[in-house]
Amino acid sequence: MSKVNTVLGTIPAEELGKVAVHEHIGYGMPGSELDSQWWKDTEQRYEETVPKLRRFREYGGGTFVDVTGICNGRDVDYYKTLSAKTGVHIVACTGFVGGDTALPYFARQSVEQLTRLFVHEITVGIADTGSRAGVIKVGVSRGGRMTELDRRIYRAAARASVTTGVPILTHLAVDARTAIAVFEEEGLPLDRVLFGHADDGVNAEEERDVMIAGLGGRIGFDTFGYETELEDPPFWARPRRERLDHFLRFLDKGFLAQALVSADANCSPLGWPGVKGHTVNYIFEDLVPDLRGAGVEESTIKALLEDNPADFLAIRD
Ligand SMILES: [Zn+2]
Repeated sequence: MSKVNTVLGTIPAEELGKVAVHEHIGYGMPGSELDSQWWKDTEQRYEETVPKLRRFREYGGGTFVDVTGICNGRDVDYYKTLSAKTGVHIVACTGFVGGDTALPYFARQSVEQLTRLFVHEITVGIADTGSRAGVIKVGVSRGGRMTELDRRIYRAAARASVTTGVPILTHLAVDARTAIAVFEEEGLPLDRVLFGHADDGVNAEEERDVMIAGLGGRIGFDTFGYETELEDPPFWARPRRERLDHFLRFLDKGFLAQALVSADANCSPLGWPGVKGHTVNYIFEDLVPDLRGAGVEESTIKALLEDNPADFLAIRD
């Protein structure tokens, strides 16, 4: 039976339920934990996060995949208590949001060292939490072109994925050819990679989505809810209808099996105010009704929220 690593143990992929595949329990830039103006104690983080996860559960949400990288506020002991308290499965990641969020200690490491770190966190555990990482996070640094460090992290992630069978999620799908070349050189099938944030207001590019999907890769429409209609929209926002139409066109091209959706929400922002009015529950409160309103069938919604994530997250032998 196929399995997935969650922070409270390894579970059958069939038990994941409805999955939010790219989310954050608490995301901040490296060093924000040292900023006394912003630092939040555990109690405050709980207060902000538990109601969102409880609601997620009430809506029928089963699994929350936290893709907060190693230096961006990942806190696995905290995730374990949240999961136990709310009944939501939480999958933690190993890896980095991008080369530009890897602190110098990691940025100086070789491909071999990074591979060893990722494999250890997937097969043995993250520090002494006893929790194993269920996904590997990588990303493209600001600027839109993969840096030498980004490529080193991608290569280590590819090797760790080949070794352990755990999939990779990317922050940004830009400079995709460079990423694909690394994955191909390492012998990693592209259906083990979710190219993320294909739908945001800055990086949407439909020809690229089709190119990646044509090669077998998965496409993350995973910034749902960051829309220009928000009270104070972020720079990557996009009109709600425009994103939805982009997504529906992708499905119409026959790529349902390679589509994944999420909200990229931040339950408890660290070191910044976050984006007001946006939570993981956008998936249930807005996205699902929008899909139904557009005539999308229930079986398609089930594929997007259950079958596709289960297939992607299941550890491959
Ligand atoms: Zn994210």
